[in-house]
Amino acid sequence: MTTTIVWFRKDLRLHDHPALFEAASIGKVIPVFIWTPEDEKAYGESEPSLWWLHHSLQAFQQRLDGMGIQLLIRKGNGLEILAELAREFQADAIYFNDRFEPEHRAKDVETVELLRLLGLDVQTFNGNLLFKPDSIKNSKGDPFKVFTAYWKKTLEEYVPVPLPAPDLQGIEETTSTLSVEELGFPFRKNWSDYFHSIWKPGEQGAIEKWEEFMEDALLYYETERDLFATESPAVSMLSPAIAAGDISVKSMWHSAKRVMDASSLPAVQNSVMSFLRQLAWRDFAYYQLVWFPQIVNQPLLTYFSLFPWNGTAEHLERWEQGKTGYPLVDAGMRELKKTGAIHNRVRMVVASFLVKHLLIPWTEGSDWFRKSLIDYDMANNAMGWQWVAGTGIDAAPYFRIFNPIAQSQKFDPNGNYIRQWVPELADLPASHIHKPWETPPALLREANVQLGLTYPRPIIDHSTARKRALQAYNELRKKE
Ligand SMILES: Cc1cc2nc3c(=O)[nH]c(=O)nc-3n(C[C@H](O)[C@H](O)[C@H](O)COP(=O)(O)OP(=O)(O)OC[C@H]3O[C@@H](n4cnc5c(N)ncnc54)[C@H](O)[C@@H]3O)c2cc1C
Repeated sequence: MTTTIVWFRKDLRLHDHPALFEAASIGKVIPVFIWTPEDEKAYGESEPSLWWLHHSLQAFQQRLDGMGIQLLIRKGNGLEILAELAREFQADAIYFNDRFEPEHRAKDVETVELLRLLGLDVQTFNGNLLFKPDSIKNSKGDPFKVFTAYWKKTLEEYVPVPLPAPDLQGIEETTSTLSVEELGFPFRKNWSDYFHSIWKPGEQGAIEKWEEFMEDALLYYETERDLFATESPAVSMLSPAIAAGDISVKSMWHSAKRVMDASSLPAVQNSVMSFLRQLAWRDFAYYQLVWFPQIVNQPLLTYFSLFPWNGTAEHLERWEQGKTGYPLVDAGMRELKKTGAIHNRVRMVVASFLVKHLLIPWTEGSDWFRKSLIDYDMANNAMGWQWVAGTGIDAAPYFRIFNPIAQSQKFDPNGNYIRQWVPELADLPASHIHKPWETPPALLREANVQLGLTYPRPIIDHSTARKRALQAYNELRKKE
């Protein structure tokens, strides 16, 4: 009987796990998780993501324990540990799902080659994307640069049917394993209570959340997903689970599609289609990460490398701490700090504010997001920032500048979101909460707001900032 080591990485789940499924179909399985700090420099500084990983790993270990299977947890060099385990257990094969971050791709090629030299059957699978990035190309054989064309092409392809959780046979003998705590992920322990009240890491939590979302909010996704100020916006909030691989996007795709196929209502069909499109945007982010790996820290539109970024360190600090004097921006940045996440529209507003109002390089913002997000995902974060900054290959043009006041008035008309995250403005009426600096002194007094003391004055005037950004952009275009 074949013994296969299955190397778990960003895919801590049993359902639709191609490497696990194939290994289980040919014999015994030895599940292994290896934490290699030098390979995880980006994620290793994302404390909220490490909080998620810690708890997701615990949930996975408990699940396997319940099936009588031991998850081996190790810290160190992946290749060396896999080779040692293969010797120890006389394994025949090592299977794992692909990762697509540039440093992982390079390392995986080497790992596969060297393990094969030891006589092992080593195979890799696509577990985390709808489509492998090298499988989708335009008619000339080149990578797509525009999402709509990419999306159209993927709609002609078939997303592989998700695989069920397999029956597992483990090995009889056990070996020593680290505990999850011994991995020593450096996240703040005092987060735990609050984070646990809003997040449920692990496969089970992800599946429950997905089922709840499909029964209700998915049906309104098209029209209500941008309404971040309502009590429960029509979004899934599954991004940390997707980023950690607790849930399979292929499973989500097929189950959402079944909802669409079962309904004749155009509103439901449009909503599901709009959701599937977002899953495809995620794939497109990985597609770009593979074809244009410089997306992480260089503008894909190369002429932006000459852009006159001249924002200040003080402004960056005020943005990070949610003290810009623009209530929506501050609410978003404070929510990020407290919960590790913010709604997509608010991400766009705060990102645009940093890059366009404050003229601070988008890489500073993506770095802050990397360290602060619970759903940090190298591909999505880089694409999101390049999209907002106008530096990406398929991005909002630079001259489209989000107006933080108008966005706030449109999507949070009663100021509920601001009241929740900027409590010092909570007593201002809805008519003034979006622009406290234009509020009559008597109203400010009544609401206990002292501008410059209890709440900052705006860091920069909106129309001055807008003009300054457009001027900088026009100068750049002249140089091009
Ligand atoms: C500046 C910026 C940075 C971002 N950084 C990240 C990041 O680090 N990690 C991350 O997962 N997402 C990132 N996003 C994309 C998006 O904001 C989040 O995926 C979304 O807010 C997650 O909420 P949800 O799970 O409720 O999404 P839903 O609307 O329920 O969508 C379901 C899933 O589709 C994918 N998705 C949705 N919208 C997008 C999008 N615009 N781009 C790519 N994938 C999408 C996500 O995996 C998401 O979980 C970023 C966006 C911006 C503008």
